[in-house]
Amino acid sequence: MADSSRITPASQLIVDTVEVRRHTGTRRPFVAAAQFPDLVAGEFAVVDGRIDVDLVIEAVTEGVSATGYLRGRWTGPCRRCLDPIERPLEVEVQEIFERQPTEGETWPIEDERIDLAPVIRESALLALPLVPLCGDDCVGPEPERFPANVEVDVDLSAEEPPPDPRWAALDELRFDDGDQ
Ligand SMILES: [Zn+2]
Repeated sequence: MADSSRITPASQLIVDTVEVRRHTGTRRPFVAAAQFPDLVAGEFAVVDGRIDVDLVIEAVTEGVSATGYLRGRWTGPCRRCLDPIERPLEVEVQEIFERQPTEGETWPIEDERIDLAPVIRESALLALPLVPLCGDDCVGPEPERFPANVEVDVDLSAEEPPPDPRWAALDELRFDDGDQ
């Protein structure tokens, strides 16, 4: 766990990769309690912009990888009753940094350093929920007028089972008998 008394501003999430890249397979843990000023998407936000970063920086063929977890808490309204919700946020990170990054796929190594801030920011924002519920049984503010679930009430016993071709053949025999 990161030491919660020491907050690392987002601007200081830069890692020098010289040591790590000296030998492929070298692993360096990066653990920090990071704070972002703007982890907000619409009505949803990371509480206090606070993300606990628990990553391992490792030299790989392409350059450097950052793998591990980001943890925090998010807040936002329930999509049915609009009550505020606060829940844990956990994101798994698996990202690659290289000198010649591919737009939208990998991140840059610049001056032998990588900046984890944009990676963490993007991963955390993408992990914010789109349509959360305060609870699975939330019925919304006016359940009478706006039922959350329209019950599909299918009475299976009223349905004819699909005809079995073998019995269909027998039915035909019965018709021939003139029963119906
Ligand atoms: Zn609700």
